[in-house]
Amino acid sequence: MSSSVALRLPSIDGLLRHPACAPLAERYGRDSLLTGLRQLLDELRPGVLSGQLSAVEIGAEVLAGRVGERLAQQQRSQVRRVFNLTGTVLHTNLGRALLPDEAIDAVQMAARYPLNLEFDLASGKRGDRDDLIEGLIRELTGAEAVTVVNNNAAAVLLTLNSLGARKEGIISRGELIEIGGAFRIPDIMARAGVRLHEVGTTNRTHARDYEAAISPRSGLIMRVHASNYSIEGFTARVPTAELAELAHRHGLPLLEDLGSGSLLDLTRWGLPAEPTVRQALLDGADIVTFSGDKLLGGPQAGLIVGRKELIAKIKKNPLKRALRVDKLTLAALEAVLGLYRDPDRLAERLPSLRLLTRPQADIFAQASRLQPLMAEVLGSLWQVSAVEALGMIGSGSQPVARLPSAALCMRPQVSKRLRGRFLLSLEAALRALPIPVLGRIDDDALWLDLRQLDDEPAWLAQLPRLQVDS
Ligand SMILES: *Cc1c(COP(=O)(O)O)cnc(C)c1O
Repeated sequence: MSSSVALRLPSIDGLLRHPACAPLAERYGRDSLLTGLRQLLDELRPGVLSGQLSAVEIGAEVLAGRVGERLAQQQRSQVRRVFNLTGTVLHTNLGRALLPDEAIDAVQMAARYPLNLEFDLASGKRGDRDDLIEGLIRELTGAEAVTVVNNNAAAVLLTLNSLGARKEGIISRGELIEIGGAFRIPDIMARAGVRLHEVGTTNRTHARDYEAAISPRSGLIMRVHASNYSIEGFTARVPTAELAELAHRHGLPLLEDLGSGSLLDLTRWGLPAEPTVRQALLDGADIVTFSGDKLLGGPQAGLIVGRKELIAKIKKNPLKRALRVDKLTLAALEAVLGLYRDPDRLAERLPSLRLLTRPQADIFAQASRLQPLMAEVLGSLWQVSAVEALGMIGSGSQPVARLPSAALCMRPQVSKRLRGRFLLSLEAALRALPIPVLGRIDDDALWLDLRQLDDEPAWLAQLPRLQVDS
């Protein structure tokens, strides 16, 4: 590209005065526009000097257009709504449980107005934020006392540190689990200052294994719900009631990390059985910890429930302050827990439970309805079918249980060699939609599990914008 006359970039002042830039200044502010223009000109300068750019490419209109795109991009929120059609309902990477309207209203109220977060309206004295939900949690779990922290990982860390620091924590080798990469029981124990004393084997641990480990150095016995894996075959596990009896005989507390921890027996809705918090306490666990945003269906939180004197000790730990929940979470949690007072209507009112219990026939009917529309958008290179599929609860609840569901299944009708590329293109195109659609690739096809396609109008409205380049 050799031109006889050397090109020059337009000046900043000239650009700012240009009519194409005026609306941008109005919309994003003069400072942002100025910064954007400077950055763009700096990037283009080498290309201009080396003669690689044409006069059109550095014209004011083109530059204004490019800066406008960047400013729009910058202004777009990084926190984006998506369609979770992965088949995993409580997806940790996609924000887990969706809140019911009652909780959303409560969050709005708490965000907008001052509130009695740590203020006792009856006495006019300073209060404790845990008191706002203690009554409700005691009623729903049978616990003597309660404290709430940021998430269940925090609940486990705080409990271990409060009750077992500088002592030994006895735990079965079958329960030394890792959850989502960063949360590993042995590491959390170490950080909590508890010395790990592992007993038994991966598949079998007996009461006598725990008993043999007990010494004056022991501080607690811990039990962890296996959550994301299952041990099958030749296995042995000491029932909670027996382990509690053993712990108490030696004057030790039994901690149970339930992970998801359900407040109600889920089998009444046809879901796989999951241990309930109430049962763990009835069996004799002294402290039970569980998440707020897994099966409970609420906001991210870690609930610590159990014996009064132990909870008092946990609340006195200075770490509690560092791990406490904020007002928005508490407001949402109270509203969600309130719904549990009426179990008969829970499956209608709590989104996570409503989605988990959605009948397969209903999902299949939706898939059949949407199949021709998707087929039309994708054209002849794709075979689109409505099929039965298997989803899962997610977040460590029942890792081997599958939820009978239905999906749109998209298979590229191309040679085996090209299939992978086609699938990745479709996946990327779905992600590029205004509300990104997330599915999963499996068995040479892309699957959109429709269990969680609640907002069908919004999904349909953006379908014509799907552009797959292959
Ligand atoms: C999920 C889980 C945790 C971590 O809970 P978060 O709320 O994600 O912090 C801890 N223990 C078990 C057994 C779990 O399943």
